[in-house]
Amino acid sequence: MLEGRIYNFSAGPSILPEPVLLKAQAELLNCEGSGMSVLEMSHRSKVFDAIIKAAEANLRKVMNIPDNYKVLFLQGGASGVFASLPMNLGTKNGKADYIVSGNFSGQALKEAKKYINAREAGSSKADDFNHIPTQAELDLDPEADYVHVCWNNTIFGTKWNYIPDTGNVPLVADMSSSILSEEIDVAKFGMIYAGVQKNLAPAGLALVIVREDLIGNAMPITPKIWDYAIQAEKESMLNTPPCFPIYFVKLVTDYILEQGGVAEMHRRDVEKAAILYDYLDSQDFYKNTVNPADRSIMNVTFRTGNDELDAAFVKGQAAAGFSNLKGHRLVGGMRASIYNAMPKEGVEALVEYMKKFAAEH
Ligand SMILES: *Cc1c(COP(=O)(O)O)cnc(C)c1O
Repeated sequence: MLEGRIYNFSAGPSILPEPVLLKAQAELLNCEGSGMSVLEMSHRSKVFDAIIKAAEANLRKVMNIPDNYKVLFLQGGASGVFASLPMNLGTKNGKADYIVSGNFSGQALKEAKKYINAREAGSSKADDFNHIPTQAELDLDPEADYVHVCWNNTIFGTKWNYIPDTGNVPLVADMSSSILSEEIDVAKFGMIYAGVQKNLAPAGLALVIVREDLIGNAMPITPKIWDYAIQAEKESMLNTPPCFPIYFVKLVTDYILEQGGVAEMHRRDVEKAAILYDYLDSQDFYKNTVNPADRSIMNVTFRTGNDELDAAFVKGQAAAGFSNLKGHRLVGGMRASIYNAMPKEGVEALVEYMKKFAAEH
C-alpha cells in the first residue's frame, strides 16, 4: 500500500488497484494528449470514443464474451438493471422465476413483480441465507421467460458454486460483487449484469452482457434509456453515459490483462479467501455460519456471537489500519470484502488483528 493509504474492506464502493489510481491521476489533467481530463470531455469526442471501445474490447477479451452477446454500459447501477430486466426480457410469457438467496435477489423479485408475474422459485431465507439453494430445492417453471439469480451474495457472504440447470429458460445473473473474480462461461447465461463499484470501477455505471436474441421485445412502457435493444443499437450512447467509470473499466481491465487475466485474479482471490477461512476454521472465538461449499471468495462474514465484542472489534479497526469491517446492518457482525484489488498483505494483516483481538478478549 502507498503511504497514507489503509486496507479498505468496504463492500462497495470499494478498493481499486493502486496502479490504476496512479494512471488515472497521471492522466487527470491531460488525457491521451487531448489537453483535458476525461471528466471534462465530450462523450462524442474521438478520445472518449476510443476509451469506451477499448473498455468493451477488454471486457470481451478478459471474459471471453461470445460475439452474439451485446455489452452495454448503463446508469442506475445494479438496481437500475434489475428494475428494467422484466420490461426487457419478461415479455414473451410475462413470467419469470427468481431464486432468493439474499437481499438483492429479494429486491430484484419485488421490483419484477411490478411489471410481470414474477415468482419465488427457491429460497434460503428460512436458513437466514446461510447457503445457496440446491438444484433439488428449485421449483422452476419451464414457461418462464428467464430465471434470475444473484451469483455472489454480498451481504451474507455466499456464492453459487454450480450453474443451475434451467432447461431452455435463459439464466440471468447479478454478478455485481463477483465479476472478474472467476472465469465464467458466458454462453451458459442469457444475461449477466453488474454494478461496477464492487470489483471494476467507481460507482455510477452498470454493465450488462446480454444475448442478442433476448432483446428487441421490450414493453412499450419501457423508458428508452432502459431499452436494452435501443442502447445496444446506440452503443450505450443514447444519452450521456457515465464517462469516468467507463474510463476506469478500461484501466482496470488493462491492469487485469497485464496481470494475467481473470484466471490469475481467481488464483489470488482463492488464496486470499483461504487465509481468512482457514483461520476462521482453526479457532472458535469467531464464527462463520455459511455452508462451507457456498462460501464467497469476495465477502467473508464472521462474528464473535457477542454484540459488544463485535462492536469493540469494529471500533479497533482504524487503529489497526483498516476500514469498513462492520457487517451489513441486516446481519450485524463483521464482513471483510476482499475484492481483486485487496492485496494479500491486507488479508494477512487482518488475520493478525483478529488473533490479537481474540487473545485480548
Ligand atoms: C451492491 C449490489 C447491488 C446494488 O448495486 P447498486 O449499483 O447500488 O444498485 C445489487 N446486487 C449485488 C449483488 C450487489 O452486491
